[in-house]
Amino acid sequence: MKIENFPEKIRELLIPKPEGKLIFRCLNCQSIYNTEELFYTCPKCGEILLIYDENFDRLKKLPPALWRDIFDYRKMLNIDSLKGIYRYYEFIGSIIPINSIIYLGEGNTPVIEANSYLQNKAQIRFFFKNDGQNPSASFKDRGMASAFSYINFLIKKKKFKNILAVCASTGDTSASAALYASYIGDAVKSAVLLPYKKVTPQQLLQPLGSGAKVFEIPGLFDDCMKIVENLSENYNVALLNSKNAWRILGQESYAYEIAQEFNYDLKNKVIVVPIGNAGNITAVMNGFIKFYEAGIIDNLPKIIGVQSEHADPVYRYYSESDPAKRRFTPLKARASVAQAAMIGNPVSMPRVIWLEALYNKLAGKQKVFFVQTSEQEIIDWQLIANRNGHIACTHGGETLAGLVKARKEKIINETETAIIDSTAHALKFSNFTDKYFQNNFEKEFKITSKPELCNAPIFVKPSTAVENNFEEFVKEISDKIAANLKISKK
Ligand SMILES: *Cc1c(COP(=O)(O)O)cnc(C)c1O
Ligand SMILES: [Zn+2]
Repeated sequence: MKIENFPEKIRELLIPKPEGKLIFRCLNCQSIYNTEELFYTCPKCGEILLIYDENFDRLKKLPPALWRDIFDYRKMLNIDSLKGIYRYYEFIGSIIPINSIIYLGEGNTPVIEANSYLQNKAQIRFFFKNDGQNPSASFKDRGMASAFSYINFLIKKKKFKNILAVCASTGDTSASAALYASYIGDAVKSAVLLPYKKVTPQQLLQPLGSGAKVFEIPGLFDDCMKIVENLSENYNVALLNSKNAWRILGQESYAYEIAQEFNYDLKNKVIVVPIGNAGNITAVMNGFIKFYEAGIIDNLPKIIGVQSEHADPVYRYYSESDPAKRRFTPLKARASVAQAAMIGNPVSMPRVIWLEALYNKLAGKQKVFFVQTSEQEIIDWQLIANRNGHIACTHGGETLAGLVKARKEKIINETETAIIDSTAHALKFSNFTDKYFQNNFEKEFKITSKPELCNAPIFVKPSTAVENNFEEFVKEISDKIAANLKISKK
């Protein structure tokens, strides 16, 4: 719709101008730093940072109903930069002029209600939010759109030129970073570090296809992370992992979209997300907190973080019920089909600890929970979802398995409605589906295929008699297919 056709009171609010005062705040010593420079950790104490708007209170002055109108009307606006995560501009990175925003089609992902078979099986009403329908086929694009829009802004301001963007990755961060860097062009080169043979073939080809330098490192993601941390401390590079707080800001859009999708009514809603490096759950908690503080939503939904028993340091931390006795212990991750979350030492753990306490405090009761699932449950639930119209990846299977677990553990009941995150597209992880169908998982996964969930192509072999007669070939093959399908003649 053209701007002149919108209601008058909303017109001047639709196209935002830079405003607010964004700062990095250390979650440990509370020091604050200017966002004109790229910081990843606190120069004083080394702890992780989050971005805050020092003028956030101005956002509370606008009536909540007007905010909702702004976001709803912005959906009808034909301005590329405001079509993705920046529909929520004022809450996401409100110092970036809209002509610096990089938009590759991220965000605004579909929320699809599960069919009645699946809802019966899970014993709860639920929806998948398909973040695999982002441009590089995972939710990471939300955070990259934010981080690269900011980098683009700094380049335009001539603060930076020739940026080398680096990241460690379990596969999706690198695919996304390489894609966004390649769009900006010459001013940004990207280099990605991957754990050797611990990403899928598709995820390896994505950054290669975008023209990034790809380094394979023997070891696990946690080892790659230490190397990029070392690089970012000692060399002139821009770190694109979720340690970079700009990534978190963009990923908050996931929470805002859910609020808008459900008409800002989050009473009795449950959000289920998988946890790897814990950037996603950080962003989801922070996003809902910001909308709650601005009055845009008046209920904080329940949040359930899910981990595989092969990579469950966050679950273990919270399995101690007395907060005073909790101790975080990194662990060595084991083989997991939820491979993008195969992380033993999540970088965002201090953010999770900080925000979980704040979230529950604001809600006045426990609203953040953690559950653990087996590898078998993860892939079985993925394949069941796939057989019922969903494009869920293994992590989508993990959230569905986590939802079922949360129902069993009575963390949620049948009167609630869940929105579960399929963080990537099933196609990225189809090698695991293949292993399942062939029943050849390596022992360490502890997965045995259930025949009723397996499938295989049927090769239809023509007889030699029809080799040189195409009409006969068509007839014979049709007959063989009809016999296999047990269909009768008209
Ligand atoms: C990165 C990733 C995760 C884990 O998210 P964190 O922010 O690292 O906790 C889960 N699923 C997919 C598909 C991912 O790419
Ligand atoms: Zn500090």
